[in-house]
Amino acid sequence: MFDQLSSLPPDPILGLMAAYRADSNPNKIDLGVGVYKDETGTTPVMKAVKAAESRLLSTQNSKAYVGPVGLDTFNDSVAELVFGKELTRKLGARRVTFQTPGGCGGLRLAAEFIQRIKPGSRILVSDPTWANHVPLLGDAGLEIETYPYYDRGCHSIRFDEMMAVLANAGPNDLVLLHGCCHNPCGADLTTEQWQAVATLADKNGFIPFIDLAYHGLGDGLDEDAYGLRLLAETVPEMIVVNSCSKNFGLYRERTGGLSIITTSEQSSRAAASQVAAIARGIYSMPPDHGASVVAEILQDDTLRQQWDNELREVRQRINALRSQLVTALKARQVAEDFSFIEREKGMFSFLGLSVAQVQTLVTDYSVYLVDSSRINVAGINNSNIDYLADAIANVVAS
Ligand code: PMP
Repeated sequence: MFDQLSSLPPDPILGLMAAYRADSNPNKIDLGVGVYKDETGTTPVMKAVKAAESRLLSTQNSKAYVGPVGLDTFNDSVAELVFGKELTRKLGARRVTFQTPGGCGGLRLAAEFIQRIKPGSRILVSDPTWANHVPLLGDAGLEIETYPYYDRGCHSIRFDEMMAVLANAGPNDLVLLHGCCHNPCGADLTTEQWQAVATLADKNGFIPFIDLAYHGLGDGLDEDAYGLRLLAETVPEMIVVNSCSKNFGLYRERTGGLSIITTSEQSSRAAASQVAAIARGIYSMPPDHGASVVAEILQDDTLRQQWDNELREVRQRINALRSQLVTALKARQVAEDFSFIEREKGMFSFLGLSVAQVQTLVTDYSVYLVDSSRINVAGINNSNIDYLADAIANVVAS
């Protein structure tokens, strides 16, 4: 059965990681992989997470199965985190939330849910979008199309073109929107633009599908949720997938949530039964540890405060690095205007370089980034920023 198998080409980002590890240049910089890194270049375990883990270690007295929808305490507290207390109360039983194996698990579960109720439904995703959206949604059977989003030349959102395409989406379509901190471009909708999207969604009936993978890494927990909360107030049906990988630093624990909003308690109950059955058929039930940690943090005032503070530090560090990089490039009198980096949010931005320029950065300067010139801003720190700015300045000048 396996004799005729051919190998798939290696994932470019894994290749980049391997090349970075093998590089002996002491000045090498990794701007490729999408994990948060602190000033020392490590991806830390948050103190609030450590504290919650040590509590769990002493109090958890059973590892019995939890069930396909996960922990109720996680689902309830994550819903309040995503939608806010007041809106959660307002949505009431129209909203159901399920614990999922990371954001990826939530995206796939949602796609399987749509495929089950309306096979081959169309989902419009931004151009560009996170590359994994394609297998996560498409492999479930959804038909993926794109809407214009980011203009790489002008470093801005192609909002009029986006709206023109979305105007043709209707009740049988889903529209995937990044809740905040767009991956890969870092450009988010303004409040006015979210309002226009919400009005259009309500008028035309397409279903907003929000991917919230960087909640709290942009402007703040409430600010980053503005768009999705506005949509949830406006439209009758909606899907939100949130990840706890970045904002709780729980990457490998596979912790996320899927929320579905319907028009009635009865429809939500029906949706919940379908989603539970799909989860049963794929992975039976989500892993517990990360979700228990999140529930412990969100339900305890002291841990919650500690986590808020730590998340604020992460956010402020990323935003400071953005400003520092722009200043450092200006100081080198680079002809290009890189000020867009300061306006963008979250871990990613495109530098706007050609593939050849990216290759030069990798081979001549040991600055590792993917061909699209997307950088992980959190890979920058006080010790490498000058070297990085010199490298970029030299590459764009030559
Ligand atoms: N959506 C986007 C846009 C992402 O960048 C990521 C993580 N890189 C995810 C979803 C899912 O992350 P995870 O499965 O690790 O929670």
